[in-house]
Amino acid sequence: MALFQDLLRIDTSNPPGNETAAARLCAQALGEDGIESQLLGREPSRANVIARIKGDGSLPPLLLNAHLDVVPCEPELWSVPPFAGQIKDGWLYGRGAVDMKNMAALCIAVMRAIKRAGVRLKRDIIFCGSADEEAGSSVGALWLVEHHPELIRAQYGLGEVGGFSLHLGGRTFYPVMVAQKGVCWFTMRARGVPGHGSIPRRDGAVPRLAQAVAKLGSTRLPPHPTAALEGMMRGLSRGAHGPMKAALSLFANALVGPRLLELAGDNPNTRTIAALLSNTASPTMLSAGVKANVHPSSAECVVDGRMLPGQTREEFLSEIRAVVGEEIELDVFQEQPAVEMPSDTPLFTAIAETIAQIEPEARVVPYMITGFTDAYAFQQLGCTFYGFVPLRLPASGPAFTELFHGNDERVPVDGFLWGVNVLYELVLRICA
Ligand SMILES: [Zn+2]
Repeated sequence: MALFQDLLRIDTSNPPGNETAAARLCAQALGEDGIESQLLGREPSRANVIARIKGDGSLPPLLLNAHLDVVPCEPELWSVPPFAGQIKDGWLYGRGAVDMKNMAALCIAVMRAIKRAGVRLKRDIIFCGSADEEAGSSVGALWLVEHHPELIRAQYGLGEVGGFSLHLGGRTFYPVMVAQKGVCWFTMRARGVPGHGSIPRRDGAVPRLAQAVAKLGSTRLPPHPTAALEGMMRGLSRGAHGPMKAALSLFANALVGPRLLELAGDNPNTRTIAALLSNTASPTMLSAGVKANVHPSSAECVVDGRMLPGQTREEFLSEIRAVVGEEIELDVFQEQPAVEMPSDTPLFTAIAETIAQIEPEARVVPYMITGFTDAYAFQQLGCTFYGFVPLRLPASGPAFTELFHGNDERVPVDGFLWGVNVLYELVLRICA
């Protein structure tokens, strides 16, 4: 707990990151039980920390990952200072409390306990505290994959996002992230003829772009059910009762799902499921024009596009074309493929068995996220990497999604300690 609090007291807001102080603290804590660490990075202020406990080598390594940077915050909107590591009413507050200095503290506590107990391991256990996840990982996990793959290569890996209690219909679920959507960020551009603004033009760049933006903003792209979403909805449906039981698994159905989502109305749950059933395109930035009385020659909108596993850039852009028409130019400027891991692995079974042992009434479900994580980097080395950071949240408290990147980010102290126990049991199950 003390290490967790001390990590929260180091401001690693990214940008600029400055993760080195946090990496040093991790190395120092591991060193107290004789576990050696290396600090590695492209820039002195942006270190990654890597440590390893050796097994007998009969099985390939397990990787435990936590990124050490955090997203910026607005301290004036918090009820406590965000970098004080303060405990109030049984909750530990701080930027990074759930995203994801909790995992760094969990991993280090578990590795130290295993080292102290002298457990005989079949696999090496690797801890990787990575920099820069919140800004694309180019000096973090992606840099490590490129420059030090031998230090982080593993058969199995655990990191964000998953493992928190999800309370639904009186049941508790623990989602295990097995898939994440890919990124396809692009610019939409409309061209027009420059001229005097006192004479309106229907074919002006701004009105044409505005029409395309309005259409894109109000259209759901075609459904493409994935194994990850079907597994997730089936798992939730098995744990549910009453009318929810049948409805839940139908959300993942290509024919019925979109209808059901319309009927269920617009709320955070239906928005999330809709975003997991289709590729998505959110217009996020607009620019056009230099003067009030001049028709501009072009108008642009940046669009946050996300692709499901199995989708190509061409398929995605043709869906966008079908909405905005042929005359709008589309320029992709950033792309990252989706990630989809199988969920019928010994690693998934080990997680399910560990939860069954510690919280028998809860259920483990596979889970897909709309964002991206360092899983994308590690899977390039052949790692089966799941999002699982065990954290027990009370049914009456804030949901995980409110805490993640939220104001007053916090964890219940007892729920964090529960996580230490779960991760310890899980790592033993996989490695001992
Ligand atoms: Zn994160």
